[in-house]
Amino acid sequence: MLPFLTERFGNPSGSHAVAREARKALDEAREVVADFLGARPGEVVFTGGGTEADNLAIAGCHAVRPGAVVYSAVEHHGVLHACRALPDSRVAPVRADGVVDLDALTGLLDPSVRVVSVMLANNEVGTVQPLDEVARAVRTAAPAAVVHTDAVQAFPWLDVADLAQGADLVAVSAHKFGGPKGVGALVVRDGVEIEPIIHGGGQERDRRSGTYNVAGIVGMAAAMKETVAGRRETVERIARLRDRLADGLLASVSGAQETGDRAAKIAGNCHLWFDGIESEALLVLLDGAGVCASAGSACTSGAVEPSHVLTAMGVPAERAVGSLRLSLGATTTDADIDLALDAVPAAVERLRSTA
Ligand code: PLP
Repeated sequence: MLPFLTERFGNPSGSHAVAREARKALDEAREVVADFLGARPGEVVFTGGGTEADNLAIAGCHAVRPGAVVYSAVEHHGVLHACRALPDSRVAPVRADGVVDLDALTGLLDPSVRVVSVMLANNEVGTVQPLDEVARAVRTAAPAAVVHTDAVQAFPWLDVADLAQGADLVAVSAHKFGGPKGVGALVVRDGVEIEPIIHGGGQERDRRSGTYNVAGIVGMAAAMKETVAGRRETVERIARLRDRLADGLLASVSGAQETGDRAAKIAGNCHLWFDGIESEALLVLLDGAGVCASAGSACTSGAVEPSHVLTAMGVPAERAVGSLRLSLGATTTDADIDLALDAVPAAVERLRSTA
């Protein structure tokens, strides 16, 4: 990225030599991104991240042909709120393991449906969704609809080019696979009509205006190359570390349980809940011990609210507030797992003894 922030700073939309240099880098990056997403270069629209890509997919397709939108109950807020902003949005429930209930989803489909959005992998509990089956159901019961998938969490772990073949629109975000923040992409398959949500100079074949973030896009392509080259080895190594972490915590902390079905999750997800504690307090203790974690709950105006994902999975509120998400990434080491295996039981113990 550095040359494009310093000496090769041209704007690819210009026509002089400096601009052409930037255009060449942009075109090369587009080819790489398209290839790893199973798309053609012209089908890639660069965005300012995953949230924008999700919004463009949903609002952009809805604007061309207004109608109903259907989304799974466990979508990221980028999809959830974009769908809820539309007049007819229908939510498809998930089963206790977090997988979308295909029968219930099919029951929401009819010829008035224009967009169906089901993520490839969930950001909170890691569940991988049966996208092919969703797409098949949509083609039969809602032939006028396009299928959007938020593959933001999936890309580091899964072959998105293969798994998202059945989708018309695919969103990714660079910072989930080692790239910079604030850059992402939306695949818009040829033939899918979309209205821009950002209007201006007509970049990206009039699908997304705004001067190109050349350094960010180049960085995203480089991160994709590295991710895909090492993906098989990373997934195997991280799944082993995740299993050691999850099994170790389940064995060492009484009243601990795992959320969802581990076999149906991406390798980097470890999501547990602990009886008799509140995760907000647990996070503070873990932060002090050098463990960066998050909770399956969000603290809103002082009250701990269970997350919409856990609620949709039928996890009772008193259990959801004691949940903990430990995410592993390509750089996670054995020493990190050792640290968490020491810190989490000690922190849970401390909270229980002071309750
Ligand atoms: N979708 C999912 C599943 C995510 O996990 C995230 C980020 O956390 C997003 C969308 C939003 O991406 P961005 O942070 O690039 O806007």
